[in-house]
Amino acid sequence: MESVDVVVIGAGFAGLIAARELSTAGLSVVVLEARDRVGGRTWTDHRFGHDLELGGTWVHWVQPHTWAEMTRYGRDIERSPSAEEAFWLGADGVSRTGSIAEFMALIDDGQQGIIDDAREAIPRGVDPTTGRIAQLDSLTVQDRIDSLDLTPEARAANESVWVGHVNAPLDQVGLSSALRWVAATGGHWQLMHEASATYRVVGGMSAFTAAIAADVRGEIRFGASVAAVESDADGASVELVDGSRIRARRIVSTLPANAISTIDFRPPLPDAWQRLSAERVASQGTKAWIRARGHVTRFFAYASQHDPLSVLKAEYYGADADGDYTLLVGFGPDHTRLDLDDVAAVQAAVDVLRPGIEVTGATGHDWMTDPLSQNTWMTHRPGQLTRDLIELQRPHGAVHFATTDNANLWGGFVDGAIESGLRESRRIRADLA
Ligand SMILES: Cc1cc2nc3c(=O)[nH]c(=O)nc-3n(C[C@H](O)[C@H](O)[C@H](O)COP(=O)(O)OP(=O)(O)OC[C@H]3O[C@@H](n4cnc5c(N)ncnc54)[C@H](O)[C@@H]3O)c2cc1C
Repeated sequence: MESVDVVVIGAGFAGLIAARELSTAGLSVVVLEARDRVGGRTWTDHRFGHDLELGGTWVHWVQPHTWAEMTRYGRDIERSPSAEEAFWLGADGVSRTGSIAEFMALIDDGQQGIIDDAREAIPRGVDPTTGRIAQLDSLTVQDRIDSLDLTPEARAANESVWVGHVNAPLDQVGLSSALRWVAATGGHWQLMHEASATYRVVGGMSAFTAAIAADVRGEIRFGASVAAVESDADGASVELVDGSRIRARRIVSTLPANAISTIDFRPPLPDAWQRLSAERVASQGTKAWIRARGHVTRFFAYASQHDPLSVLKAEYYGADADGDYTLLVGFGPDHTRLDLDDVAAVQAAVDVLRPGIEVTGATGHDWMTDPLSQNTWMTHRPGQLTRDLIELQRPHGAVHFATTDNANLWGGFVDGAIESGLRESRRIRADLA
């Protein structure tokens, strides 16, 4: 049977970083990736004449693990277009339009109120289960908004901003997600907004992950879908769907919590993993790329959490034989509510957000029905963070877990994936030294 020091399952950011660190330390490493590409939930694909990010996109220098890799690989950033106009739904469900400054003034008190206690709840962003968070973790983002004394207009606008961040209905998302992201940005909600949706990577995420993959001194095997992992006193055997087996002293699983039960772990996974994968995390939304006729003035638009798309903005401009076009990017809280192949349905969703746009096409990738991810960017349900995080980080015999889902600082983001890959590779190197 083939035998190596470490098998890494998955070639997303977490797996690539772990494999690079372990292999450059002299350990023999094989990465088993079920897809035909690296990158996992980041994927730059050429559609509508542009390199579009179908998954993770925006990065920021306040994300320390991401930024270290950006520097190491000489990646640059470019700003997504700044909006000139804002659109939002009023409390009566009717579209409003105004300047960016008017919209910001409308949400300012509410945004601050939602995260006002972030520094007290999570005094150190790198330690997200310590502080008053334990007492607050049963609350949802919706509970927090409901507790604020906001006008109906301000409440509607604040809800729409947060549903864009958390990619799920607000009554299903733990307040912890809001508090930990703002704790990671020094308590400033404006900086958190900037960090999560402003700067994209020049050349795309796929070129970024390809550069990391080139530094892995070991094989990255594609189409290699893992079916089972059986641990014993000396390590573990990994069984692939095609029946082949590999023996390793250590295993790194990078599967997201929602997808981890697709592998048969023997002995069974620790309770925290079983619980979380049965409950599933909160995030469940969609990301859509929409082609609109003509040159649409740069805008952002918010609808409500009950609409198929709750956020929309202009991202790219171009021209082809049919004339000028604008590419819009949109996000909705429930992936089942919008079929991107149905242009009429996409048009109806866009009409709610930004009247006067003619939709000519839409595309995207449904990460929720993708069996290898079953999640977008992870947000927790109430209670999950403080109940499970520490246990999710513990190795289980020969099996280590590196995923953005068990990161401390930017859990759910690329930064968290990198953090987790570094953490587990360090532990394994120490173990096998
Ligand atoms: C639509 C969307 C938008 C996002 N926006 C942002 C953003 O703007 N900024 C940001 O920082 N983050 C964003 N994220 C989140 C970010 O992309 C993820 O947090 C990060 O990429 C996760 O990396 P990971 O390595 O932990 O997991 P993954 O990337 O999911 O990697 C896991 C890997 O395991 C593989 N795998 C699964 N099962 C098996 C199996 N049985 N056998 C072999 N291989 C298997 C998968 O194919 C995958 O390659 C976004 C995500 C989505 C989906």
